[in-house]
Amino acid sequence: MSHASAEAHLGDDVAALAPGALDRLGDVVQTCAGAFRYVIITDDIVGPLYAARASGSFRATRVEVLTVAAGEHTKTRETWAQLTDAMLSRGCGRDTTVIALGGGVIGDLAGFVAATFMRGVPIVQVPTTLVAMIDAAIGGKTGVDTAAGKNLVGAFHSPAAVVIDPTVLATLPPEHLRAGLAEAIKHGVVADAAYFGRTVNALPVCLSPRGAAAPEMAALITGSIAIKTAIVASDAREHGRRKVLNFGHTIGHAVEAATEYGLLHGEAVAIGMAIESHLAERASIARSGVADAICAALRAAGLPSSLPASVHPSDIVARTHVDKKARSGVVEYALPRAVGEMAGAESGWAVPLTDSFVTAALA
Ligand code: NAD
Repeated sequence: MSHASAEAHLGDDVAALAPGALDRLGDVVQTCAGAFRYVIITDDIVGPLYAARASGSFRATRVEVLTVAAGEHTKTRETWAQLTDAMLSRGCGRDTTVIALGGGVIGDLAGFVAATFMRGVPIVQVPTTLVAMIDAAIGGKTGVDTAAGKNLVGAFHSPAAVVIDPTVLATLPPEHLRAGLAEAIKHGVVADAAYFGRTVNALPVCLSPRGAAAPEMAALITGSIAIKTAIVASDAREHGRRKVLNFGHTIGHAVEAATEYGLLHGEAVAIGMAIESHLAERASIARSGVADAICAALRAAGLPSSLPASVHPSDIVARTHVDKKARSGVVEYALPRAVGEMAGAESGWAVPLTDSFVTAALA
């Protein structure tokens, strides 16, 4: 696949998707979001691997690298404050572009810094996990977690550009690669049965040692971004169709919280997709066999498809109310009718299910 043809199918935000794109980052950023100063925000795992290549590509002196601790626990208001203070103390003004170099944690956190710094400066997303490449970096959602739950404080802030170098996936731990595959499977379920089939067929190559450089991986990234971009373009602020992207997330977010973030986001979403597809069948929304097809794909990707034994179903149901998807006390779900087709077009793409129905199904 030539990267030119791949980019032709991507949203306007994706400025580059190609092996070696990291070494051209400075040129891309200066073209899409030229500024007086550039601040690369990264974490202490990605930084040592890739920050020198990223900052070196600017061939200019006004590039700062700010490094935070890796992991979800970093995605907080406290880290947001530290980063904005660091930028202020370095004299950054409105003429600054922020570059998020890392996974979804860095993308969300740096994106929120950019959304709020001086009431908003440009953000360029340079995702280094599969989750971030096909999901977190696309669509403009940014934010931080609070003690009450994930992503409860944030802002929409679309990237000026997204720069993807798939070869960085070679250093990504396998469990994080699998977590990204959960999002690819989700994209197939919510929008495109053919893409779902291609993704399932590509799983063995993508999970192999040559996966990062394989054409199948590039095709998976391209296909997933195209699906997410089209959905986001149709409903940027999640008033309607964008809600289909929440498939697996109502239960998934509850599972994450119940396990005190002991599972990866993609693993929790995998469990969420398995459970929510069974809910859809039980509610006679999904055709028989849909849940089996989704669970088989999750298993082929090495992902979990049932609640951990330590988690009590009633705890999950209670926690679904903390999520942002409850309306008038009834929790809404994005549910599949079939692989490639979501239910609820007539009800704003969200299907309310009562706690008693969900509790009975989980039991
Ligand atoms: P992450 O950012 O924590 O990255 C996972 C781990 O991999 C980290 O330890 C990181 O340091 C390391 N890493 C990243 N790239 C690497 C590489 N190339 N080589 C080696 N190690 C590497 O996790 P994630 O799964 O990328 O993102 C999860 C976050 O994304 C969650 O906070 C979630 O809420 C958010 N998210 C946001 C959106 C959105 O629309 N904004 C969508 C999905 C997920």
